Amino acid sequence: MADYDYDVLYLGSGHAAFDGAGMLTAKGLKVAFVEKEKVGGTCPNWGCNAKILLEAPAAIQRQIRDSKGIIAGDGSIDWAKNQAHKRSVIDDLPDILQNMFQGLGVTYLFGDGRFVDAHTVQVGDQKVTADKIVIATGAHSNILDIPGKENLSDSKAFLALEDMPKQMVVIGAGYIGLESAAMARAAGSDVTVVMHSDHALRPFYHKYVDQLIASMKEDGIHFVMNADIQAVQGSGDELTLKTDKGEFEADWILDATGRNPNVEDLGLDEIGVRYSRQGVAVNDHLQTSVDNIYAAGDVLDKKQPRLTPTATFESQYLSHLFLGDTKDAIDYPAVATNVFTLPRIAQAGVTVRDAQAEPDKYKVVEKDVMGDWYRQVDYEKAGQIALVYDKDQRLVGATEISDRADDVINQLLPAIEFGYTPDQLARLVTIFPSIGYTAYGELG
Ligand SMILES: Cc1cc2nc3c(=O)[nH]c(=O)nc-3n(C[C@H](O)[C@H](O)[C@H](O)COP(=O)(O)OP(=O)(O)OC[C@H]3O[C@@H](n4cnc5c(N)ncnc54)[C@H](O)[C@@H]3O)c2cc1C
Repeated sequence: MADYDYDVLYLGSGHAAFDGAGMLTAKGLKVAFVEKEKVGGTCPNWGCNAKILLEAPAAIQRQIRDSKGIIAGDGSIDWAKNQAHKRSVIDDLPDILQNMFQGLGVTYLFGDGRFVDAHTVQVGDQKVTADKIVIATGAHSNILDIPGKENLSDSKAFLALEDMPKQMVVIGAGYIGLESAAMARAAGSDVTVVMHSDHALRPFYHKYVDQLIASMKEDGIHFVMNADIQAVQGSGDELTLKTDKGEFEADWILDATGRNPNVEDLGLDEIGVRYSRQGVAVNDHLQTSVDNIYAAGDVLDKKQPRLTPTATFESQYLSHLFLGDTKDAIDYPAVATNVFTLPRIAQAGVTVRDAQAEPDKYKVVEKDVMGDWYRQVDYEKAGQIALVYDKDQRLVGATEISDRADDVINQLLPAIEFGYTPDQLARLVTIFPSIGYTAYGELG
């Protein structure tokens, strides 16, 4: 084997890189991360962690509101303090991660990484070589190409806002758009969501999505559907979004029209790695069109949701592959996903849409979860669950809309992934009262 600087080099230092790297250094492999921005990538710095810290007070506020005076006060949110709290929790994460991984023997190389050839990457004025290279460069926010686009802001800027805008327009109704709209509304902003179509949250059960939108409207969020977005006029905090459905004033506009894989400026064309706007093309071993180059995480062209746990799964799979622990193709498990709005919509396994498309194979059982007294503990007002069973009566999927949907779907995940039989389910003696007990009660 040629003498390379590293056994495995990752382009990027997010979950798609770091979750598998420790396994490699533990077996004596030389590993490096190339990072051009913040150690840890999107999730800890301007994704999941930042988002859930800023969202948490909204969930408490909702409980206060729905407790109908049991908990006194209006639950209003001090956004500036909320931001300060978020910073105090996450600002040290890059240093913590860097120290931890350096302690495990990983080298960090800071700068823009770009392929020179299949085994060589240029980082600043340094050239480094590696036996295997993993493209783990993630994705970035799409910004609409319209006049005035310089006045559009992305989710990274939203999660760093020091002051909550009084009037905010959100373009797009994917999970980032709706979660941001809900957070902003809870913090007192007058929010309008402008959508290109009339379909929000496409991968989720449309009936529950409609219920969510109705609930968000009750909370005072305005929705404009089927709008052709034309331009942003004005500057600073005096902006107007022009559409064919009218003009919408705002002091801040969030462009939440999607995320694009980071495939540009990596030198992929020069070395023959195939990719498209959907991401880097890989085979079922996450191997690109160049033998020694692999890809993982949000940069992949894949059907699985672009989430941290999928990036983690892929990163760990690649490490097992590199160590020779497996030769098998990647076998994705049921992936649990959640929209962090209130109510939440969470799902795992076979979706309602897929089940309804194959009625010979699946049966969908829908229930109103409010039939369980436990739902009153958190002052929940409404909720439904759709359970998908296969022909052997095994649970293969579930989707819930409720304030505790994420917890319920997490609880049901092992049953979905491992196909528990009724006898096995009966052996799960969970804590009572708890959302876990309630979740399994849904199956009764
Ligand atoms: C607002 C928001 C909220 C989210 N909420 C959730 C959530 O609640 N739950 C969840 O599971 N997922 C969530 N996600 C998705 C999650 O953050 C991503 O799936 C995850 O971070 C993907 O990890 P990754 O390692 O593939 O990419 P990233 O974490 O994006 O890491 C890629 C890294 O590569 C670096 N890089 C890129 N190009 C180069 C280059 N040429 N040279 C050197 N370095 C480079 C980047 O700087 C970055 O640090 C959210 C995302 C966003 C934006």
